[in-house]
Amino acid sequence: MGKVRVLTEDLVSLISAGEVIENPSSIVKELIENSLDAGADMVDVMIEGGGIKTISVSDNGSGILKEDCRICLQRYSTSKISTRADLDRIVTYGFRGEALASIASVADIKIVTRTEEEETGTLIQSRFGKKPTYSEISRPRGTTVEVRDLFRNIAARRKHLADAKVESQRIQEVVMKHAAIRPEIGFRLIRDGETIIDSPPSQTATDRIASLWGSEIAKALIDVDFAVDNVRIHGFVARPPVSRGNRSREYFSVVKRPVTDEKMSQALESVFSTTLMKGQYPICALDVSIDLSKVDVNVHPTKREVRILDINEVCTILKKAVRYSFGERDLPEEVTSLEDTIGESLQAISTDIVQSTTPSMSPISHEDQIAAVPLVEQMLLKPISDDEHESLDVAILGGVFRIIGQIHNLYILLEFDDGLLIVDQHAAHERVLYEQLRKEMNDGTIAIQELLQPFVLSLSRKDAEQILGISDILDDIGYTVSSFGGNDISISTLPEIFGRIASEKELMALVDRIIDLGQHTARETFMDELVKVTACHSAIRSGQPLNTEEIRNLLVDLSKTKSKYNCCHGRPSMLKILKDDIDRSVGRMGPDAISRYRARHGLK
Ligand code: ADP
Ligand code: MG
Repeated sequence: MGKVRVLTEDLVSLISAGEVIENPSSIVKELIENSLDAGADMVDVMIEGGGIKTISVSDNGSGILKEDCRICLQRYSTSKISTRADLDRIVTYGFRGEALASIASVADIKIVTRTEEEETGTLIQSRFGKKPTYSEISRPRGTTVEVRDLFRNIAARRKHLADAKVESQRIQEVVMKHAAIRPEIGFRLIRDGETIIDSPPSQTATDRIASLWGSEIAKALIDVDFAVDNVRIHGFVARPPVSRGNRSREYFSVVKRPVTDEKMSQALESVFSTTLMKGQYPICALDVSIDLSKVDVNVHPTKREVRILDINEVCTILKKAVRYSFGERDLPEEVTSLEDTIGESLQAISTDIVQSTTPSMSPISHEDQIAAVPLVEQMLLKPISDDEHESLDVAILGGVFRIIGQIHNLYILLEFDDGLLIVDQHAAHERVLYEQLRKEMNDGTIAIQELLQPFVLSLSRKDAEQILGISDILDDIGYTVSSFGGNDISISTLPEIFGRIASEKELMALVDRIIDLGQHTARETFMDELVKVTACHSAIRSGQPLNTEEIRNLLVDLSKTKSKYNCCHGRPSMLKILKDDIDRSVGRMGPDAISRYRARHGLK
């Protein structure tokens, strides 16, 4: 007897339900989308036990006609499309007619619904794929879908659900994503009796985001609205350093459908690659509106991805849109073509970047002053010049600065007409090396140092495999890595800039960081990360004393870089303190000083 058999309908519906319903949050997503498709302007979500125990989504939309109630739980029953051509221009969230059927096959479902034109409503009940029952019931116009006991009939699936806390969190994300895109619709989320989200209908986009993300993030948001060739990018991006430790606040939508898209994330992150610290991700809520014929929404079972026919073009526009909104100047250019930018006016020192880290210069109290004296004495302010004739002036950043010295073997102090400039020697050197190495890489002229004796490192098997697996990428930057038997690897060449400090310990630390990077990102992004790591490891450390000549060379090199105000991980490389601010802080300026002056000179 043959072994192939056609599956029973029950089994087929369980299998396809599995594609649509991954966890409670996918149910919430489907139900919210149905409410939005029904034209609701208020969607109430209530969950218990992470949605595994209960999910209820209630709306004031169109409701379902009695005759449609009879079929809406059947698979592939939909009111939203009817012809092949409709598939090319899907304007509703739903279109496959699968969600209610899938939910009904894996949970206990109860639907209460009424339309405007009918006097009574309908109650539909079905338990785990059993034939539904129907009865009359009253309710105002709209629909409530209640889902209980998810996956009670499929132990294997139930077992794989996360705990209630994690599932609740996922649900909250789903509601927030929809709420962020549709400020005109009211959303409420009640979790185990507690109101988690309460956003009324018809909010402005700004108020909506503030109500979802809180005022701290809201304050840092910049409007984005930019269109090229019928592609419009619209929404918000947060100004660095406001950011997140993961991608969870990168909200993208395409024609108001929430999506996750690796390429869009990477495009956005590339704009911030030199202004955000390593491991920090930008925050955004950006919608891409594009001609419907250019997107295919029918590519993912849960519709979490859409296919944009020209995704690369959209990503380019997205990057432009973000840069444009930041007024371009506030964000460094991506370092692809490096050109000298010496001679920029001093005025151009990005006050935004510097100010955001300038300590508030409030006047110091008397006690503070006393406490501060020993500290000042401890400060090792080394006079730099041994040679009295040596000039301490250095012409950089379009102005003339006088080198005062180095403190804590870390900060370089410079005096200029309007105040004091403090440069972080590590951040500065890291920026210089990063741009140098990027340029060499782009030009294909990476300077390499051949080692007479290769370094041999003993790694764990997993790490050795990982490093050898990316040996071609490492090679492009100047590291020649090969297997040395067992789990040992040998490194026989290094990029020149790293060669200066190479030791087994340094290399081990570098390998650790490369392994930490993983390789989830696209090759180009990964290369850039490698360059950053190399620059960071090769740069002058904190603790290293520098003489005048070294300081001067570093400053001149820094002033030639494109993004001189930040290290390549986004930390500021310099801090400007204006003399005016110092004056004000010690009471030399301001109303008090003026009245003292007037009193001294007998003026009224
Ligand atoms: P789809 O959304 O793909 O059409 P669903 O299984 O989610 O498929 O829903 C089936 C049908 O039930 C929908 O096409 C719609 O006509 C009706 N429906 C579902 N939920 C609602 C709702 N909240 N309000 C009004 N109609 C609804
Ligand atoms: Mg649907």
